[in-house]
Amino acid sequence: MKKKKAVVALGGNAITRKEQEDTIENQFRNTTQSLSGVVELIKDGFNLAITHGNGPQVGNVIYRVELARGKAPYLPLYICVADTEGGMGYMIEQCLRNKLKQENINRDVVTVVTQVIVSKEDSSTVNPSKFIGQFYTREEAENFARERGWKVKKDSNRGWRRIVPSPIPLAIAEKDSIKNLVENGFIVIAAGGGGVPIFRREDGTLQGLDAVIDKDRASAVLARDIGAELLLILTEVEKVALNYGTPQQKNLDKISLKEVKKYLSEGHFPEGSMGPKIESAIQFLESGGKEVIITSIARVYDSVKRKAGTRITV
Ligand code: ADP
Ligand code: MG
Repeated sequence: MKKKKAVVALGGNAITRKEQEDTIENQFRNTTQSLSGVVELIKDGFNLAITHGNGPQVGNVIYRVELARGKAPYLPLYICVADTEGGMGYMIEQCLRNKLKQENINRDVVTVVTQVIVSKEDSSTVNPSKFIGQFYTREEAENFARERGWKVKKDSNRGWRRIVPSPIPLAIAEKDSIKNLVENGFIVIAAGGGGVPIFRREDGTLQGLDAVIDKDRASAVLARDIGAELLLILTEVEKVALNYGTPQQKNLDKISLKEVKKYLSEGHFPEGSMGPKIESAIQFLESGGKEVIITSIARVYDSVKRKAGTRITV
């Protein structure tokens, strides 16, 4: 029987938890725990690519680069993203290898440092909006803006931060390799933190861009590019809801593409959180995908058995 191909996108809480100190030990422990459901999917015979966020991790890399200014070479943002793809890929890969070993499952795992093609003319490069890195006072932020050409903006009432472009991902540079690996049973960790944003120069060569890509949007493009049937977006909530966080909250079990587009236009899914997940779901289903499930990390296996989560289908 042909195995089902899926992309699993791990949310921030799969690796770092708000209530804990952010240490490498905790990251390994959380990641190991979070992969239990993924192991169940592998046992069930799925062929998988796994993607993940990198918000706190890339923020810390940038912080170290700032602290080391003048002492160690400056790293552009696209290198920071590539570094977290490698480092976090190592961690997730090792946690998964150890779990598979414990369960005597003979499947190999590999990390692909992924480059994601964007347009240099993406509107977000003119109007950046994605907050990144540390919080600063207004004065510090304005100094950085002057000295380093950063764009800075006030982030809620917590302080000032740098803002960078978050361009729309167009295609995965390594799609053929990843597709081949996944179809041959390798579990592939790819597009970490949304992947490294790159653009194509006139002569066809590639170059990195100081920007970050939304990991759910990159996951949808990866899922399309490797011909996956299913995109699983794992986050903190078990189901997508209408009127989320209000007394009128209504959790959704199964919805159609048409319904989800209507709910999106009605404003049920905010920009910084559920919005990009829903838009990614729509993009995947409109580009040939069969099904998107949004659920919590704990319920991933139940969700493919239709016992949990929100299922969106064409
Ligand atoms: P990630 O897991 O990728 O880090 P986010 O934390 O950015 O994801 O976004 C997921 C969060 O969005 C949920 O944990 C929930 O608090 C919030 N959210 C906002 N609107 C909704 C909604 N309509 N239904 C469910 N969750 C929502
Ligand atoms: Mg989050």
